[in-house]
Amino acid sequence: MTTTYTPMIEQYLSVKAQAQDAFLFFRLGDFYEMFFDDAILASKELEITLTGRGGGGDEKIPMCGVPHHSADNYIYRLIEKGYKVAICEQVEDPAEAKGVVRREIVRVVTPGTVMEGKAMGERTNNYILCVTERHGIMAVTACDLSTGELYVTSSPSNKQWLRDEVGIYDPAEMIGDAELLEWIAGQATPLGKPVVYTPWDKMKEENSRKQFGEAVWIRLEPERRDCVALLVGYLGETQKRQLGQLTKISSYEPEHFMILDPFTRRNLELVETVRERSKKGSLLWLLDRTETSMGARMLRRWIDKPLLKQGAIEDRLEAVDHLHSAFILREDLKVALQEIYDLERLVGRIAYGNANGRDMIALKSSLYQVPGIKSLLMDASSSTLRRIAEDMDECKDLADRIHAAIADEPPVSVRDGGIIKPGYHKRLDELREAGLNGKRWIAELEAAERQATGIKSLKIGYNKVFGYYIEVTKSNLASLPEGRYERKQTLANAERYVTPELKEKETLILEAEEKMVDLEFALFSELREMIAGEISRLQSLAEHIAEIDVYRSLAAVAADNGFVKPTLTDGYDLVVEQGRHPVVESVMSDSAFIANGSHLRKDDASILLITGPNMAGKSTYMRQVALIAIMAQIGSFVPATSAEIPLVDRIFTRIGAADDLIGGQSTFMVEMADIQVMTEKATSRSLIIIDELGRGTSTSEGMAIAQAVIEYVHDHIRCKALVSTHFHELAHLESSLSGLRNYRMAVQESGDKVHFLRKLIPGAADTSYGIYCARLAGLPEGIIERAYGLLQNIEQTAAEVTAVSGVITEREHPKETSQPVLESIHTEKNISRNMSHELVVKEEVIQLS
Ligand code: ADP
Repeated sequence: MTTTYTPMIEQYLSVKAQAQDAFLFFRLGDFYEMFFDDAILASKELEITLTGRGGGGDEKIPMCGVPHHSADNYIYRLIEKGYKVAICEQVEDPAEAKGVVRREIVRVVTPGTVMEGKAMGERTNNYILCVTERHGIMAVTACDLSTGELYVTSSPSNKQWLRDEVGIYDPAEMIGDAELLEWIAGQATPLGKPVVYTPWDKMKEENSRKQFGEAVWIRLEPERRDCVALLVGYLGETQKRQLGQLTKISSYEPEHFMILDPFTRRNLELVETVRERSKKGSLLWLLDRTETSMGARMLRRWIDKPLLKQGAIEDRLEAVDHLHSAFILREDLKVALQEIYDLERLVGRIAYGNANGRDMIALKSSLYQVPGIKSLLMDASSSTLRRIAEDMDECKDLADRIHAAIADEPPVSVRDGGIIKPGYHKRLDELREAGLNGKRWIAELEAAERQATGIKSLKIGYNKVFGYYIEVTKSNLASLPEGRYERKQTLANAERYVTPELKEKETLILEAEEKMVDLEFALFSELREMIAGEISRLQSLAEHIAEIDVYRSLAAVAADNGFVKPTLTDGYDLVVEQGRHPVVESVMSDSAFIANGSHLRKDDASILLITGPNMAGKSTYMRQVALIAIMAQIGSFVPATSAEIPLVDRIFTRIGAADDLIGGQSTFMVEMADIQVMTEKATSRSLIIIDELGRGTSTSEGMAIAQAVIEYVHDHIRCKALVSTHFHELAHLESSLSGLRNYRMAVQESGDKVHFLRKLIPGAADTSYGIYCARLAGLPEGIIERAYGLLQNIEQTAAEVTAVSGVITEREHPKETSQPVLESIHTEKNISRNMSHELVVKEEVIQLS
C-alpha cells in the first residue's frame, strides 16, 4: 500500500527525484528543510537536531532544517565533506499561489562548482574535470567556474596519461564516462582532495557552440568538443543560469609540457609536502612571493606544467632576469600589486550575477592601479615585460563607470539601497530628494507638535512594525489634547500615537523609499551586466597582471636565495655546478647546505649510481637535480652557481616516501609497476630518479632486479638517471656500463661515530651503515652488538662465496696511504671504490674546512 502524503510532501518528493544524489535544501518560509534520509544524514553531518513532522503517512517524517540567512555556512560544510546540495526555492509569491507554492531547484552547489566560501582556497584553483573516450582518443576538460578558466586536451587512449593529466588539476569533482571515472576512482594515485564522481553523458553541444562561438567551436578537435560540451552541459544543468565567465577555451597539446605523474609530483613536494600535505615546505611555498591570488594560482599552474618549448621558457627567464636585477622596479610593482584584488574571481562573480557593491569597488580600485603598472614596465629592457605592458588594456572606461555609479562605501546587500552615488541617475536623485523632503517634513512636524502641546520630550520615531509614530512619556500624557491622536502602542513609560496627516506622509515616504531601493537595484544590475559584457577584456587583463606578479615573485626569490639563470639547451647534457636543494637549503638555520655538482653527459656519465649510508643526503641530492630541471623549465632561476639544462620531457621518480600511503599494495609491487611505466614511457630526454632501487624483496633478487633495470636504462632508454642503492655490491656495473659512474656520499668516521659530510664524491661506498643508524635510532646496545657480530659472519661468508663465483667485483678495503685518495678527490675522475672510506673522508674534511 502506498502512503498518501500531503501535497507539500508530494511536491518535496518530486523535486527530490530531480536532485538525485544531492541534499535537497527545500525552502519553507525562513528555513531550508530536509526530509527523510537527507534529514537523517544531514543532522549527523551538520550536528543539527533531527525532528519529525506529520506528512500524511502513519509515521512522522524525519526532518531537520537550517535558517535561510545562515544557510551558506551549512552548504559549504556539506560541500567540503564532498556532498552536493540542491537549493530549492519558492518561485511564486505565496500570496498569489493556489494550493502549494511552486518550488524549483535554482542551483545545485557541488564541490567542483562552488563560487565562494572556505571550500575554495583563495590561492588555489578549484577544478571540475570531465573525462571522455571516443574513437580511441581520451580527452580531459578542466574548468574553474570561479575564475572562468577552461582547459582541454586529448591523447590517444592511454590510462596512464589520463591519470597524470587528472593529477595535475587536483580536482574536487569529476564527471564524464562512467568507466573512466571508475578506473580513476580505483587508482592508488595520491589525489589530493576527496573527489566527487558523477557519470555524465547528456550531450548538449548547441549550448557550448553558442557559449564559445561557432568559429572557436569548429576549430576544436571533435573529441575535445565532445568533452567540453559534456562539461558545459553539466555546469548549465547544475548552475541553471548563464555562465558568462566562460569566454575562452584553452586547448593545448600534452607534448608541450613536461610530464610529471602524480607520484613524482608528490615525491618532489612540488606543491605540498608528503607528510603534512601542507604547502609549507614545498617548492611552491618557496617560490610563492606573489602579491595577488591570481598570481599565486598562475605560479602553481606553472609548477604543475613545466614547459617544453625552449623559446617560451627563455621568454619567461628573460622577464625574471630583468626583474632580478631591478630591485626598485620590483618593489614598485609589489606596492601596486598589493592593491589589486582577485580580478579573476571578481569578474567571475560579476558574470555569474552574484557580485555586490563592494565587489565593484574592489574592481574599480584594482583597475586604477593598472596605468601605474603599465608605465613601470613600458620602458623595461625586457621584451617579455614590454609586450605584456603593451597588451594591457587598462579598462579605464569600466573603472570610470563604476566610479560614477557606485558609492565609495557600499553596503554588502544589493537590495537595501545605498549603493548608487548621488548625481548618477536623475530619477533616483528625485526620489531621494522626495525622501529627504519627507524626513524634513517629519522633523518640522516634531517641532510643531512640541510647540502645540508644550511637551519638550515629545518625539517622532520610526519602526518597521508601526511605521512613524509620535511618542509621549507617561508623565506628559495629561498635556496631550483629546481627539487628534490615535493610540498605537503602549510602552512601560510612554505611549505612541499616530495622526492622519502623519500616516499620509508616511505612505509617501515609504513608497518613495521602496521605489528608490528598487531603482538602485535595477541600476546596479544594469551596471553589473554592462561589465559582464566586457568580461573577456577583464579576464585578459587579469592574466597579464598575474603573469607580472609571478615574474616578480620568481625574481625576488632568486635574488634573496642566490639563484642563477639557467641556460636551456636542446641537447642532452645536464650540467649543474654547486647545485643545492632549494627548499632544504631555505629551512636550514644552523648549518650551511653543502652544494654538489651534477654532470650528466651523453658521452660520459649519464647514470650516477649513488651509494652511501642512510641520512647521508642521497635522496636530497637526487631530488635537487629534478627540482633544478623543473625550476628551469617553468622559467625560474635555479639554486646553483651555473646550470645547463636540456629540455627534459618527463621526470620519473621512484622514491620511498609515498609508499606507506598506498593502501593494499606492497612496496615492491608498486615499485615494479612504476618501473614498468618507466620502461614504457621514458625517452632519451627523460630524467629518471630511483631511490633505493630493489628493496622490498630478498637481497639477491633485489640486487638482480636492480642490476637488470639499470642495464635496461643504460642500453635501451639511454636517458639521464640518478639511482641510489644500498647494494654497494652493484658498484661493479661501472666497469661494464660505459655511461655509468659510481658516486657516494662522503662520511667521516671517528671512533664509533659517523659524521655526514653531504658531499658527493666519485666512488662507491663499501658499507651501508644500517646498524649504525639503528644505534642512532636508540636500539638497545645488546641488539646493536649482536648485529655487528652477525654482520661480520655474513660478510665473511659472502666474501668466500664471491671469491669462488667471482660474480661481484672488488670491494676490498686495503689500508693504503692517503696519497691516491687525494688524487681521486682532486681529479674527481678516478674511482675510489677500492679505497678505504675512512681515509677518503679524512681528506675531504681537509678540503671542506
Ligand atoms: P638519505 O637519502 O641518504 O637517507 P637524505 O637525503 O634524506 O639522506 O638526507 C638526510 C638529511 O640530511 C636531510 O634531511 C637534510 O637535512 C640533510 N642534508 C641532505 N643533504 C644535505 C646537504 N647537501 N647539505 C646539508 N644538509 C643536507
